[in-house]
Order: sequence, then C-alpha cells, then structure tokens
Amino acid sequence: ADTAPLLKVRGLEAWYGESHVLHGIDFDVAPGEVVTLLGRNGAGKTTTLKSIMGVMNKRRGSVVLEGTETIALPSRAIARLGIGYVPEERGIYASLSVEENLLLPPQVRPGGLSLEQIFELFPNIKERLKSQGTKLSGGEQQMLAIGRILRTGAHLLLLDEPTEGLAPVIIEQIGRTIARLKREGFTIILVEQNFRFAATVADRHYVVEQGKVIDMIPNDELDANIDKLHGYLGV
Ligand code: ATP
Repeated sequence: ADTAPLLKVRGLEAWYGESHVLHGIDFDVAPGEVVTLLGRNGAGKTTTLKSIMGVMNKRRGSVVLEGTETIALPSRAIARLGIGYVPEERGIYASLSVEENLLLPPQVRPGGLSLEQIFELFPNIKERLKSQGTKLSGGEQQMLAIGRILRTGAHLLLLDEPTEGLAPVIIEQIGRTIARLKREGFTIILVEQNFRFAATVADRHYVVEQGKVIDMIPNDELDANIDKLHGYLGV
C-alpha cells in the first residue's frame, strides 16, 4: 500500500487583494520525497508555497500536514508543525552578521539542527560567521538561508528557486545539499525554472499553469515527456 502523504493539498485557492491567482491547486507529497513545482512565470508557484506556509492572507481549500488541517492556522503555528520556507529573495539581513542571521529564526520544535550540524552541511558558513550577511556571495547567502531554516526543526522545506542567479558550480553544490537533506529524511518542495537542475534532485514534478496543477511527471519519465514539458514551459 502507498504510504500516507506527508502533505496533501486540495482545492487550494489564494488571492492578492481582489486578484484571484490560485484556482484549486491539488497535489500530494510523500514523506522523504523531493517534488518540484514547474511552470511559467506567474503560474502561481511562489503563491502556492506562500499559501502552504500560511503567509497568504486570503486563502481557501485544504492543506493537510500529517493529518492536521492547516488552512486556517497562522504561519507561526504552521512553522511549529514543521514547515520551513526559504523565499526566493532569501531574506538575509544586510545589517546583521552571518551568525546573527543564522540565529534569527526561533527553534520552534525539537529536532532542529545545531549550529555544528549546520556547519557540517555548509562549511563555508562557519568561515564567514562574523561577516555581514550581504558580504556573502549569492551561493553562500542561499546556503545560509537554507541552513537557518534547518535550525527551526522544520522537516518539510519549501525552497523557492534556490538556484536562481547562481553559477553552475554553486548550483551543483545546492543539488548535493538537497540530495543529502533527502537522505537524512527531509521532505522538500522546490520551485524551479531550471528543470535540468530539477531533474537531478526530484522524484516527481508537478506542472502549474494559471493557478492549477495540470500534470504530474515522475522524474524517471521526464525524458519520455520532454516535448510535452517544453510545451508547458514555453521553451
Ligand atoms: P514567478 O516565477 O514569476 O515568481 P510564479 O509561478 O511563482 O512565477 P507567482 O509569483 O505565484 O507565480 O504569481 C502568480 C500570480 O500572482 C501572477 O499573476 C503574479 O503577477 C501575481 N502576484 C504575485 N505576487 C503578487 C503581489 N504581491 N501582489 C499582486 N499580485 C501578485
């Protein structure tokens, strides 16, 4: 029998003010899985992550994490259930040191990584502890943003375009980090534009178009579906 999903999203809708942008998103994520949300600009991928994290004020439908309905919970309560969100803009504070940035998110549940465990994953961070946040390269900032969320005790990570703007060698490093987190039991939802990268880390891909999930492609069927995927993405 299939294992119960860790996250089950059904009929998820969301609005920015009067602007209705999610029109009934449906998808599941199994425990320990890496799934991507692929789709064109403006399809609703970021808004889906923000809705799961509870930072979209106006949302409706159902988001069930390990049997708990979260749609009406505030984002702090959702964080305490074990969801961590790394936004596309990464949220590193320029005026704070790397260390202060790292210590910023509260440990909201047991199981958060210690600083030593984070340094083990991201050795660069340890060397840069006293530097100012924005003195870091884009790749180091991305690793700091991911490392920081691991402190909270989150076990479901929502990563919004972690590879954006990064050099290929850094993208590879992010890929190895995601693979390692998966091996250690984290579940990851990844928004990606770079589907070549997505194919190296993900188990399955959900295609988002105009605020709905319109297809799901298992990673091992990606090659067979490449023309269809190009069509969806307009590439
Ligand atoms: P991108 O890769 O461009 O971020 P996306 O698939 O993540 O694409 P979203 O950012 O979720 O798309 O945007 C979905 C829709 O919501 C788009 O039409 C976008 O213009 C609109 N939108 C996004 N953010 C806001 C906002 N803060 N206020 C109003 N509308 C917004």
